[in-house]
Amino acid sequence: MVIKLQPIFFDKVWGGHKLKKMYHYDCSDHCGEAWGISAHEHGSSVVMNGLYKGLTLRELYANHRELFGNHPSDEFPVLIKVIDANDDLSIQVHPHDLYAKIHEQSLGKTECWIILDTDENTEIVIGHKAEDKEEIRQAIDLNYLELLMNRFPIQKGDQFNIYAGTIHAICKGTVLLEIQQSSDVTYRLYDYNRLDNGKPRELHVEKALDVIKVPDSELAKDKPTSLFDYHIKENHNNTEHAADVYGDFLFITEGNGTIKDTPVTKGDFLFIPANLHYEMQGTFEYFIASIK
Ligand code: ZN
Repeated sequence: MVIKLQPIFFDKVWGGHKLKKMYHYDCSDHCGEAWGISAHEHGSSVVMNGLYKGLTLRELYANHRELFGNHPSDEFPVLIKVIDANDDLSIQVHPHDLYAKIHEQSLGKTECWIILDTDENTEIVIGHKAEDKEEIRQAIDLNYLELLMNRFPIQKGDQFNIYAGTIHAICKGTVLLEIQQSSDVTYRLYDYNRLDNGKPRELHVEKALDVIKVPDSELAKDKPTSLFDYHIKENHNNTEHAADVYGDFLFITEGNGTIKDTPVTKGDFLFIPANLHYEMQGTFEYFIASIK
């Protein structure tokens, strides 16, 4: 049985209409995030088909752990989402596991991005040029943090690993897929002095300074393979597969076809239970992840 998951949509001050346009989601024109494979308490995706239709992924993980190969974690460990940045996201950082556990009763957040679509000349912000935390604090106080950031041009297909402690920002004109630890803790350092419903969004400068990595000028090349594994693949004609010991988690990036006779199309999020054998038919490109 292939389980299709209905994403949970979140409107954002920086969101846009591209998720609706690219994936035909029933979301607003300000949608910033679609959490497609999420069992997080702030938003869990929902089973759309079959025996478990209507259950949230959070309920499925809690009550049918056998589908997930009896994974030992109490909380489902990852969150997979697509993001439409119609405007710049705040310059932000996420805590590592120990800090998050003590201060937020949460997992930390390391995240990985796969660029799905960009406008022309789009960039991304990862890491900084500062030599110590004082330099970052001063840049925040004097309102020039943006000048300290490292910016990189991006294009469709690029992949980036953002470890906890690395400052980053997704910039206007980017649609990306994010696989991350199941955490919703973000420390904002700078939000372009913009207003959301008439007031500035909260910043978290002290906590951010606690967790920021210094120095941090190099892009992380290696994937965080201790947390999860992921690939972009293509299917042509008929292919045979066996799901991972904890199941496979998929997002269809282009095209359409069937997986174990279930029709799938661009924009679908899917869970294939542990060790299941399945056949893919059709021509499509997909993201596939397994958990550790
Ligand atoms: Zn982030």
